[in-house]
Amino acid sequence: MDSKVLTEVRDTTRIERVSAHSHIRGLGLSDELEPRETSQGMVGQKKARRGAGVMLQMAKTGRIAGRAVLIAGQPGTGKTAIAMGMAQSLGKDTPFTAMGASEIFSHDMSKTEALTQAFRKSIGVRIKEEAEILEGEVVEIEVERPATGSGQKIGKLTIKTTDMETVYDLGQKMIEQITKEKIIAGDVVSIDKASGRVSKLGRSFTRARDFDASSGSVRFVQCPEGELEKRKEVVHTVTLHEIDVINSRAQGYLALFSGDTGEITSEVRNQINKKVAEWREQGKADIIPGVLFIDEVHMLDIECFSFLNRALEDEMAPIMVMATNRGVTRIRGTDYKTAHGLPTDLLDRLIIIRTEPYTEDELRLILKTRCEEEDVNMEDMALNVLTKIANDSSLRYAIQLITPAALHAKRKKSKQVSVEDVRKCYGLFMDEKRSTEYLKEYEEHFLYGEVSDRTAKME
Ligand code: ATP
Repeated sequence: MDSKVLTEVRDTTRIERVSAHSHIRGLGLSDELEPRETSQGMVGQKKARRGAGVMLQMAKTGRIAGRAVLIAGQPGTGKTAIAMGMAQSLGKDTPFTAMGASEIFSHDMSKTEALTQAFRKSIGVRIKEEAEILEGEVVEIEVERPATGSGQKIGKLTIKTTDMETVYDLGQKMIEQITKEKIIAGDVVSIDKASGRVSKLGRSFTRARDFDASSGSVRFVQCPEGELEKRKEVVHTVTLHEIDVINSRAQGYLALFSGDTGEITSEVRNQINKKVAEWREQGKADIIPGVLFIDEVHMLDIECFSFLNRALEDEMAPIMVMATNRGVTRIRGTDYKTAHGLPTDLLDRLIIIRTEPYTEDELRLILKTRCEEEDVNMEDMALNVLTKIANDSSLRYAIQLITPAALHAKRKKSKQVSVEDVRKCYGLFMDEKRSTEYLKEYEEHFLYGEVSDRTAKME
């Protein structure tokens, strides 16, 4: 077997995008699902976080099929943050898709296709692959003892490879020795890295566990079959949607970059489902249900709601979290008014979680967390001013002022963001309230402003 030259991978400077929710790392709950005051980037909103935690627990034990979560609360009360926290606490490679309901009304594809894509973007497929081993890399040789009456075991040795021939040779010698010396789980052994010689030193373990022998790390664990394995598993997680796009002849993988995937046929999807089911059976892949978050869900219409009712029943369905800030409103596409504008058969399936407005202390803490996330050093007084802005205007607006204020401070070569920097940006960038007032004041000067009653009458 060829040994390969290890190519040097140079570390390039990484530019990390700080997104609106990048400070959220989970729901901040204890093992007993008790919300901590501030944890994993989450502040306050304890009841909602606990509710979300219970839902997650249900999802983890596979008891959520056919159900969904609805988070109801005013704008900026952390509905998206909580959905994000749910995805984060399910694990690093859990897919999270956030979309606004109005996104599905596009000319490029039907509403149901857009929803199907959103569902499939929220289902991860963790694919396990054996990687190529390059010279100089550290690998583990796992040696399984052929099945005999005393059981099947693995000896594990970690070495730096010279070439793969040596690795196989070593493994082969180890397997021979293990068989010859009748080594079983619980035996203390030493492995000579150079010759692969395994010698039994004694017996002290009653069950499989790690043992760090002087010449290598040895581990005996239960294993089904006896064979020599060079195992260096690489795990990729892709979404079902990505697999669909790559295999869709009409689109090709480049569509993944442009996002312009168009409609994907049901034949392609059926084939993918079959293939993924095969991989699962062969132990090559696992399915990871992610979280699909649909904001402003009252904007969906009756056709979408009936699609969702059915899609939620699917065994591979992601955890669906919807959010709305509407009370009783009309169901789009009908003349009926219901709670949150959702049809009753869907409401029946929902577990509703409420979010509450934040106190000033909580707002301050959220803003402080955001400053830390954005690496911004802000004076206490400036943070107080920003908190006041969040209280009077909106939390999101205040969060958006952090970066420009930091840039302003940097331009002055100041290491801390001051009240002055915040004030300057507050003057430069308007919040919704001031912007509306301004528009009202100058309404008549705008070219495309609505024709006021007065002007209409004059005409
Ligand atoms: P909308 O109804 O307008 O969609 P929302 O309820 O989804 O709003 P978010 O977008 O989650 O609100 O919150 C606004 C900002 O505040 C985000 O950057 C979010 O990460 C942050 N945030 C909200 N609540 C919390 C919280 N409890 N802890 C930490 N950050 C929070």
